[in-house]
Amino acid sequence: MPGETGSDAVIRVESLCKSYATAAGPFPVLKDVDLVIDPGEFVAIMGPSGSGKSTFMNILGCLDRASSGRYLLNGNDVASLDQDALARLRGGTIGFVFQGFNLLPRMTLEDNVALPLVYAGVERDERQARARELLERVGLARYAPSLPNQISGGQQQRVAIARALVNRPRLILADEPTGNLDSHTSEEIMAMFAELNAEGITIALVTHEPDIAQHAQRLVRFLDGRIVHDGSTAHAHAHAAAEKERAS
Ligand code: ADP
Ligand code: MG
Repeated sequence: MPGETGSDAVIRVESLCKSYATAAGPFPVLKDVDLVIDPGEFVAIMGPSGSGKSTFMNILGCLDRASSGRYLLNGNDVASLDQDALARLRGGTIGFVFQGFNLLPRMTLEDNVALPLVYAGVERDERQARARELLERVGLARYAPSLPNQISGGQQQRVAIARALVNRPRLILADEPTGNLDSHTSEEIMAMFAELNAEGITIALVTHEPDIAQHAQRLVRFLDGRIVHDGSTAHAHAHAAAEKERAS
């Protein structure tokens, strides 16, 4: 099994539960989730709408906290950290990519990419240099002074990836990053994730598309707040091929 061994896991989740308070009482969304992701893995997360994927990603990204259970990020139990320490750990470890790109509309693309460095207290000159270098890397250097609404959705997602990379994260969390993109553009974005993974960045990526999930080595499937499948995508590939064979 992938992810079973390493004590130096990037992500270690144990018996994690999350409930939301509703008028009708606590509503459980994540139920006893266990997951270990080792350095260098590329994990696709699938599951029907409402199965808890985004809630789980937000907890992994330290944007939200579990109701019970443990979450160790880079070996640090996030529950033991105060707000500042958690923000530092998150900022220095994780790049987050969202379905809706989440660029600030009135800021230039360069300033959008540099924004995490403002929070990290990096000097202006270095912020500009790093933002330009990353825009160059995603092929959008010439748009540095443009605003988000002046470029296409696929280009906006590339800018969002540049922003996610600006703090040199070891982990990228992406929640349906191709959900708003056509299939050709989606493939370009996935090629970019594959390249980052090949450079050693650990990736956990939520998707509805089996074709997109095939870019990962490992597939985790959620159903009703639980992990119901965890295995290699190569296996899923072989399984699909065998099904096709049987059907023909
Ligand atoms: P997915 O990303 O798999 O579609 P989500 O994690 O967004 O699923 O949602 C899982 C469940 O939690 C859904 O039933 C959703 O309605 C519920 N939920 C999500 N956020 C909240 C919230 N802030 N308060 C109450 N319920 C929520
Ligand atoms: Mg979601």
